[in-house]
Amino acid sequence: HTRNSGEREYLEAIDEVLNTLGPLMIKYPQYIEPFERLVEPERQIVFRVSWVDDYGNQVVNRGYRVQMNSALGPYKGGLRFHRDLNLSVVKSLAFEQVFKNSLTNLMIGAGKGGSDFDPNGRSDGEVMRFCQSYMTELYRYLGPETDIPAGDINVGGREIGYLFGQYKRLTNHFNGAITGKDTNWGGSNIRPEATGYGLVYFSEYYCNHHGTSLKGHRSVVSGSGNVALYTAEKLINFGSTVLTLSDSNGYILEPNGFTKKDVDFLKELKNTHDGILQQYTSYSKTAKYFSNENPFSVKADFAFPCATQGEITGQEANALVKNGIKGVFEGANLPCNNEAINFFKKNKVLFAPGKAANAGGVAVSGLEMIQNSQRQQWSKEEVEERLRSIMKDIFDSSLKAAKDFGFNDDIQAGANIAGFLKVANSMIQQGNV
Ligand code: NDP
Repeated sequence: HTRNSGEREYLEAIDEVLNTLGPLMIKYPQYIEPFERLVEPERQIVFRVSWVDDYGNQVVNRGYRVQMNSALGPYKGGLRFHRDLNLSVVKSLAFEQVFKNSLTNLMIGAGKGGSDFDPNGRSDGEVMRFCQSYMTELYRYLGPETDIPAGDINVGGREIGYLFGQYKRLTNHFNGAITGKDTNWGGSNIRPEATGYGLVYFSEYYCNHHGTSLKGHRSVVSGSGNVALYTAEKLINFGSTVLTLSDSNGYILEPNGFTKKDVDFLKELKNTHDGILQQYTSYSKTAKYFSNENPFSVKADFAFPCATQGEITGQEANALVKNGIKGVFEGANLPCNNEAINFFKKNKVLFAPGKAANAGGVAVSGLEMIQNSQRQQWSKEEVEERLRSIMKDIFDSSLKAAKDFGFNDDIQAGANIAGFLKVANSMIQQGNV
């Protein structure tokens, strides 16, 4: 607490894990020391990103890369461009990534990064100049054997392209140092879809374990970015009725559920970069838009928070439970705070933490690294089948760890324990580094 004082998000992320690892450490005190080491990032890079806007003004942003843990492989995790990003948020996400990447069984370590730069409202030229300046500092810390960033909030195909182009220019290497690339030049099939699709596979396994299914049930989804839209698409595919989507300004209720065609329309809208969700109401006569509200007051069977951290607090959790929610499956990273998680568990709501349920994105990034090192590209079918199988393994190993350590069916506890043990044992075996 002293070393990370004031870093609310980071301390909350550590608490979330400690709440479930505590009993393990009491029983096996040899794991206390690696945990203390694990919460201190191996390396934190904070740097100035200065660039010139379209009007000739010099703009300064702050860049981050937290290289959290390399016990299982090179650092791996996304870059986020968001005006509210700070070191505490980056550390909380990098910490979460340690457990998530471990659960994929893909030999990848953990990192996270980004900037307080907001690409919304910026021209393509401005985004490109920002990305080039950002990479001009960061490239020296990256490489396919060292650290492999990917996308995250506001970092999609366009930004990855500009970042990779500058990396290649500076290093004179065309290699797999970044994932989420376009499929024409080294990207994996199914990478854009992977987080959302993986989340739905995971949720279906979880539901099946409890004798139910997504089919025929209503879902509320938050967000309308990469994760949310592919979650909605797969949910529709699985026969669930998707009632909502949202963005920073409010949410859309589609009372009879979105169709696949509606989701395609939204993908197109979002692809224009300045497309805002509210514009959907001029496309659909039945949709209702609720400004400055989130969708968690809508009555449904399952909730898929897919926007950002901290979107479900005790208040939203209360509203969901009051409306009879049966399961909450995290697509975003850390969208439910600890109060909300505890409330769900107390009320017997199925709860899947992002570090397990949204691991499909980083898993397919790991598959992209394998394809790059082999100079190969696998078909969509092959990648999706591997994704499905990885999500099943994550569910099974989380459930097994929960049972082995006396947590019954608690997937949150199981994911923390299974993710941690692999990293901690590797840290112990690699010595005091
Ligand atoms: P996108 O940038 O594609 O979409 C983010 C969505 O969340 C947008 O709809 C955005 O609305 C909304 N949003 C962002 N900030 C806020 C906020 N403060 N309040 C309300 N809504 C907000 O990002 P992704 O879909 O890639 O990421 C979403 C979440 O999923 C993040 O937590 C990310 O870390 C996590 N994740 C992403 C993975 C991936 O593969 N992309 C992998 C694993 C996890 P608006 O457009 O108005 O800003």
